[in-house]
Amino acid sequence: MALTLALADEAATESLGRRLARLARSGDVIALMGPLGAGKTTLARAFIRYLTSPGEEVPSPTFTLVQTYAGSSGAIWHFDLFRLTRPDEALELGIDDALAGGIVLIEWPERLGAALPARRLDVALGVGTADDTRRATIDGAAWADRIADLAKP
Ligand code: ADP
Ligand code: MG
Repeated sequence: MALTLALADEAATESLGRRLARLARSGDVIALMGPLGAGKTTLARAFIRYLTSPGEEVPSPTFTLVQTYAGSSGAIWHFDLFRLTRPDEALELGIDDALAGGIVLIEWPERLGAALPARRLDVALGVGTADDTRRATIDGAAWADRIADLAKP
């Protein structure tokens, strides 16, 4: 069952990132969808800082395509596949290792085509009514027992 949340400002997006991090387990794949500027990296940064340290530097993987972190419960892989031209290029980025363990955050997951794991959480971010509002639609059978907890502050 999908959950839709209003994100009134950037802080709300960061809070959602931390709530996702709190509930995430090794082996989870979180697909961050939405257009440029929707807040995918903002959410990922708060997620990663929750599991590393508040001062962790979390650059957008726009050019490197992937950044990895040592989280408190294992590795965190943060992909931005916007610049991926073919799904099999992701193998060169270590996507198989990422999916074999750890927590995987993927911006522009559509670029993986059929290689995108079916067992994942989809977090679709959209721009809301005002410049700084966003909306998140969250869905995924892998998180069926956790989605309701995300709505809690
Ligand atoms: P993406 O990775 O989806 O391209 P970013 O997270 O890099 O997006 O950028 C989102 C931009 O939108 C940032 O400049 C951020 O300050 C701004 N912003 C404004 N309101 C919000 C919000 N509610 N949630 C997330 N980002 C917001
Ligand atoms: Mg981004």
